[in-house]
Amino acid sequence: MDQHEHIENDEKYHGLTVNSGVKQQPVVNPYLKPRKRRPLPTSGELVEGILKGDITTLSRAVTLVESLSADHQTIAQEVIEKCLPYSGNSRRIGITGVPGAGKSTSIDVFGLHVLKDGGKLAVLAIDPSSERTKGSILGDKTRMERLAVHPSAFIRPSPSAGSLGGVARKTRETIVLCEAAGYNNIFVETVGVGQSETAVHSMVDFFLLIQLAGTGDELQGIKRGIMEMADGIVINKADGDNVDRARLAQAQFRSALHLFPPTQSGWFPEVLCYSGYYGLGIEEVWEMIDRYFKFVKENGYFDRKRQEQARYWMFETIDEQLRRNFYTNPEVKQMLFEKEARVLNNQQSSFTAARDVLDFYFNRENK
Ligand code: GDP
Repeated sequence: MDQHEHIENDEKYHGLTVNSGVKQQPVVNPYLKPRKRRPLPTSGELVEGILKGDITTLSRAVTLVESLSADHQTIAQEVIEKCLPYSGNSRRIGITGVPGAGKSTSIDVFGLHVLKDGGKLAVLAIDPSSERTKGSILGDKTRMERLAVHPSAFIRPSPSAGSLGGVARKTRETIVLCEAAGYNNIFVETVGVGQSETAVHSMVDFFLLIQLAGTGDELQGIKRGIMEMADGIVINKADGDNVDRARLAQAQFRSALHLFPPTQSGWFPEVLCYSGYYGLGIEEVWEMIDRYFKFVKENGYFDRKRQEQARYWMFETIDEQLRRNFYTNPEVKQMLFEKEARVLNNQQSSFTAARDVLDFYFNRENK
C-alpha cells in the first residue's frame, strides 16, 4: 500500500503519520536450494564410526535399528552383524521399579558412580506404554540431569513403535551397537508394571528391582514373578523419617525371598536400603553387584545365561517375523476379516476357520 493511501497521512489529520515500511522480501528465498535428503550411510561407514566410539554415528545407527523401513532394516542388520564380534564386553544391568520408585534419580547417581573409575555407560529403556502415548516416559534425558551432560554417557529413550517383543528386540540390538562403541556398562530401564520386565530380564546379566517402603503392603502390586527374577532388591528413599520403615521393608523382603525356590545362578538375592536422592548407600549397592558378577563368572553361570539369551532372541526374532509376515499379508488380512465374520455368525468353527487361513498362507506359493 502506498503511504499516501493512509488516512493518517491526510493533511487534515494531526495524529501520528504512517511511514512507508521497508520493501517486503519475497517469502520464499529464491537462493534456497531444495532440501536434499541426507543419503543413507553404508553399513561400513556406520560400523567404522561406531568402532571409533563416535556418538553421532552410534545414534544414527540406533535410529536405523528402530526404523520400520525395509531399507533401513537392511543396513541396520548388516551393522549389527558386523558389530557382533566387538560386542559382549559389558555389564548389562536391568533396572525396574514402579513409577515413582526413583528409577531416574537412582540411575543418575548409579551412573555417576560407575563412571567414577572411567569407562562408558549406555542407558537404554523398554517402555511398552510409549507406543500408546507416542512419547517415551523412560530414558528421557531430562530425567537424568547429570548423566545427560556426562561425556561418557549415552542415553536413549525406548523405541516407540511396535509390539513389546519388537521394542525389546530393538533394545537388545542397540546393546550390541553400544558395546561395539565401547560402552562397558549398559543399563536397561523398564517400568515395573508388566510384561516388559521379562523382556529386560532376557537381555541383562543382573536384574535390580527398586522398591519403596510402603504402608504395610510391601509387595506393592509388584508381581511375584518380578521378585523371582530379581538378583537384588533395593529399597529406595531410606532417608529422613523413612529410614525405619525402609529397614522394616528390608527385613520383610528378606524373609519373603526365603520362600522362593533357589535361583538358577546359585546366587541368593540380596536386599539393601539406600537413598538415591541423598546418595546414601550407593557404594553398598554396587558392591553387591560386583559380588554378583564375580560369583556368576566364577561358577560359569554368566556365560551360560548369555548363551541362553542368544538362543532366546533367535527364536523371538523368528516368531516376530513370522507373525508380522502373516498379519501384514493383504490376502491374509482380507481372509481373516471374512473368516472372523463367519465365526462370529456361527457359520464356521474357530478351528476350521484358523486352519483355512493357515492352509492358504502356507500353500500360497504353490498356487
Ligand atoms: P521414577 O518414576 O521411578 O523414575 O522415579 P523418579 O526418579 O522420577 O522419582 C520420583 C520422585 O521420588 C521424585 O520426586 C524424586 O525426587 C523422589 N525421590 C527419588 N529418590 C529419592 C530418595 O532417595 N529419597 C527421597 N526422599 N525421594 C526420592
